[in-house]
Amino acid sequence: MATLELDSVTKTFQDGDDEIVAVDDVSMDIADSEFLVVVGPSGCGKSTMLRMVAGLETITSGTVSLDGRVINDVKSQERDIAMVFQSYALYPHMTVRENMSFGLEESTDLPDEEISEMVTDTAELLGIPSLLDRKPGELSGGQQQRVALGRAIVRDPEVFLMDEPLSNLDAKLRAQMRTELQRLQEDLEVTTMYVTHDQTEAMTMGDRIAILNDGELQQVATPLECYHEPTNRFVAGFLGEPSMNFFETDLADGTLTGGGFEYPLSEGTLADLGDATGLVLGIRPEAVEIREEASAPSDFEATVDVVEPMGDENIVYLQFGDGESLVATTSGFDRVGAGDSVVARIPEGAIHVFDRASGEALHNRTVEADAPEP
Ligand code: ATP
Repeated sequence: MATLELDSVTKTFQDGDDEIVAVDDVSMDIADSEFLVVVGPSGCGKSTMLRMVAGLETITSGTVSLDGRVINDVKSQERDIAMVFQSYALYPHMTVRENMSFGLEESTDLPDEEISEMVTDTAELLGIPSLLDRKPGELSGGQQQRVALGRAIVRDPEVFLMDEPLSNLDAKLRAQMRTELQRLQEDLEVTTMYVTHDQTEAMTMGDRIAILNDGELQQVATPLECYHEPTNRFVAGFLGEPSMNFFETDLADGTLTGGGFEYPLSEGTLADLGDATGLVLGIRPEAVEIREEASAPSDFEATVDVVEPMGDENIVYLQFGDGESLVATTSGFDRVGAGDSVVARIPEGAIHVFDRASGEALHNRTVEADAPEP
């Protein structure tokens, strides 16, 4: 049972005369047994944040608390936190069994037989009992990954910290380990903070995700909430592949005007926009509808530039207005080809509108009543 609380946590590094703010005033709570995924682009401060929680990095200001107790000054090995790294960090000269038992031998007074039993149980949980007498050099990447996980699990910690643990695996194994890790975390009910730059891992694994950019926390919410109700343009653009389409527009007389197109807004949407006039219109590729004929003000004559057939879907690159680019995803069975003239509908129920200067989301798409709760 453990809750983790970050309160105004900041980390600065000195680089000559320059100060690098790696983590900037981040506050968030991670509930007992929660799986929280921290995601963001390279250099946004994810690893630094995790390392501060682990005690591997000092905290410049703010506090990290475990079950209500501030642990800023508690030594790493006394934090009851187990960390799994991207590099696995296994001892090459030790067998799997020795790698898994080493931490327990160092940090507890448990008798050898008990440690041996715990290691065997954990190896069984991970499906690797036959590997216990091998050395890391005799294992595949996926097997090494399991050993690194096993070494964390066997310690029965209050908190798991994982830093890109799957990124050295090939795509198929990564997908398999994703579900396996989730199942394990649910069974073990250990509070987990998981760092990745991979938005698929963030969307599929996390109870909630925390999105960082430039050291600053952008949003902490369930994956679907972040996807459908982003707090700002950064979050909207970071989640989703292909990314959300964005158009720079100005609002006048209830109509957004962009590069050669006009998009009239309903009273309901306008009410969310306040006095802002410099706006960005956002629409996700899967929300764009390709039609044959225009029949609504949200329909635009468009030309197909390129079609990428993915099998299950087509990614269709379109041009409309004065050379504005629009990406749509359609069913893989749709017959669209480069050079086709089509109509692209941007349904108002699915649009997002952001303040151009601050990036703040002023209006988010409607989520249908029968859709899963964000
Ligand atoms: P990645 O996904 O590439 O691993 P990240 O989001 O984990 O990136 P961090 O490694 O936390 O990012 O780094 C955040 C910022 O802090 C970066 O600008 C990085 O250059 C800087 N930084 C990290 N460690 C140090 C250090 N020891 N000294 C100076 N600057 C550092």
